[in-house]
Amino acid sequence: MALLLYQQVFCWGFYAHQVINHQAVFSLPPSMMAFYKPNIDFLTIHAVDPDKRRYMVDAEGPRHFMDLNRYGSYPFDALPRNWDTAVEKYGEDSLRKHGIVPWWIHIMLARLTNSFRQKDYPRILRLSAELGHYIADAHVPLHTHSNYNGQLTGQNGIHGFWESRIPELLAESSFDYWTGKAVYIVSPSQFIWNTVLESSRAADSVLLFEKILTQQFGADQKYAYDQRNGITIRQYSSAFTIAYNNMLNGMVERRMRQSILAVASLWYTAWVNAGQPVLEAPGKIAFSAVDSTAFEALDRDWQKGKAVDRTCDN
Ligand SMILES: [Zn+2]
Repeated sequence: MALLLYQQVFCWGFYAHQVINHQAVFSLPPSMMAFYKPNIDFLTIHAVDPDKRRYMVDAEGPRHFMDLNRYGSYPFDALPRNWDTAVEKYGEDSLRKHGIVPWWIHIMLARLTNSFRQKDYPRILRLSAELGHYIADAHVPLHTHSNYNGQLTGQNGIHGFWESRIPELLAESSFDYWTGKAVYIVSPSQFIWNTVLESSRAADSVLLFEKILTQQFGADQKYAYDQRNGITIRQYSSAFTIAYNNMLNGMVERRMRQSILAVASLWYTAWVNAGQPVLEAPGKIAFSAVDSTAFEALDRDWQKGKAVDRTCDN
């Protein structure tokens, strides 16, 4: 019987990404909800497409993170917030290597705004689902730090522990997802940068508290063994997970809630900036044969890719 270290493969975990997109729909104003709600299954399922694409598209990885600690100390003033100025200073290759999530969110937001203007309903849904993914990633502290999986400090696995194990164990029984109504964001750029800065402020505690608890628990209490699909896996024990969540004072739930509100608010902002078009498309949107083939190909390549690559690299 194979003995494997349980390691979550995807960022925020598929579970949390899907919850975030799903819940965001309920924060929309009625005029948008009438269009989004019949398509909520699509928005939920396709919340994870950007992570699936990481297996086949090299350019995809950097869109999910930014190692802010590469740029000095908080608030990282050395890093120009403007893309062109940042490229002049650091070069495009270096910027991409250390992650571009705030700039990528900006691009996706512009694309979504355009698709609202054109009333291109399938595209609105696809871009909404994917924008939701990147916004959620920007809320994860370890997506803003080069020690993203504790690999520099002997804490390997902490990435999936924070963003997958905690929500999967605790969300259904104790997380509250009602976040109130979407709000119009006057300066999306400032909002997005503030989001990654907040995440980076929390990264030190995420790493430090795990280290403190590891010393208290010891390896035999820290991990537990479980059966999944006929193999034994090692994962963080429930007691360790609950203790860590308490020590973080509910940070994971808080960041999930902030993600939900941010996703709904940026969807709403794109719609307002497009001139609040009436979304008269009735019910569930049908995708073209080309789109459907692309979704199937993405899924097939992901299934193939995950068999060989089981790391979550940021
Ligand atoms: Zn991601």
